[in-house]
Amino acid sequence: MNLTSFYPGPSQLYPQVEDYLLDAYRSGILSMNHRSVAFMDMLAQTTASMHNKLEIPEDYEIYFTSSATECWEIVSQSLVQNSSLNAYNGAFGQKWFEYAGRLHLAFGQDFNPEENVNIEQSEHFSTAELLCLTHNETSNGTMIPAEILQKIRQNFQGIIAIDATSSMAGVALPWLAGDVWLASVQKCFGLPPGLGVLVVSPRAIERAEEIGERDHYNSLLFIRDNFIKNQTPYTPNIASIYLLGRVMAQMPSIQAVNQHLTERANAFYEFLNENSYQALIENPVVRSPTVMTVQEDEIFIKTIKELAAEAGISLGNGYGAWKSTTFRIANFPAIEDTDFDRLRIFLQNGHP
Ligand SMILES: *Cc1c(COP(=O)(O)O)cnc(C)c1O
Repeated sequence: MNLTSFYPGPSQLYPQVEDYLLDAYRSGILSMNHRSVAFMDMLAQTTASMHNKLEIPEDYEIYFTSSATECWEIVSQSLVQNSSLNAYNGAFGQKWFEYAGRLHLAFGQDFNPEENVNIEQSEHFSTAELLCLTHNETSNGTMIPAEILQKIRQNFQGIIAIDATSSMAGVALPWLAGDVWLASVQKCFGLPPGLGVLVVSPRAIERAEEIGERDHYNSLLFIRDNFIKNQTPYTPNIASIYLLGRVMAQMPSIQAVNQHLTERANAFYEFLNENSYQALIENPVVRSPTVMTVQEDEIFIKTIKELAAEAGISLGNGYGAWKSTTFRIANFPAIEDTDFDRLRIFLQNGHP
């Protein structure tokens, strides 16, 4: 049976990945030395495609790590001397706050998922060196609108780090509103897990140089020293970088992808409403276009997930506080419109 996954990470792969993997194997790149010209060229092409397709500003640098979680720690290690301020409304943002608090003083501010982030009201807003925001909270399906990020950027003096793990490569990001954007590839990139992405502004690099932290294999400055020579601080996940390059080359512009996903999300939220399904997030302003969360009672959720599995459809489990009372639907670019047609038919007929 043709299994369709709506799991928001690891998520359904771009169907082309099957051929790209074979190409990678046949090309010999997977057993090439990572100091070789062939690898360095491949890395340079991959980041150039990312700049081009995702519309990343030319002076923002791109580095690869192992995961988004690793990026959280890199930011804490290399960009904080005293304290960070972390805003969160769900499990991923909160986890980031907890990780940060183990490495330095961190102030957390939680906010209502139905409302815009109100971090400017924090007493630490004017003093924190680093502000940590989760652009797209994968646990509940909320997103911070671009205008809000831009307003925060205007008012905040320090460095802004933004977790865009479940929106980068799906949503056209307001890059200039953040100094560090982090993600991993098993969400909107439609790739297998195992690669993290760091996109870093000149301002963040300047700040890292002021601090001068070089104690770790993954210190930001050490990573940078390598990447500006198209090298990596350790033997990298060559297969993932290769696949990422191929997917970037194949994808349309991020504006087109963003438009398509927004329309598909709007149609799906409307469909839920018309078919008596309850979206967890009622405020359309903060609803995510890439992760959609449906709330029902526990028994309903359990039953519908089982029925879906029998129909060859994998619904995403709830996460964190919403684990047993929601299911999540990834609206990622690798998922086809026809998959959504199948999902809608199932949800119409399968209402237990
Ligand atoms: C998935 C996810 C992460 C964790 O990604 P890893 O690659 O497992 O480290 C972090 N933040 C958000 C918002 C996520 O959705």
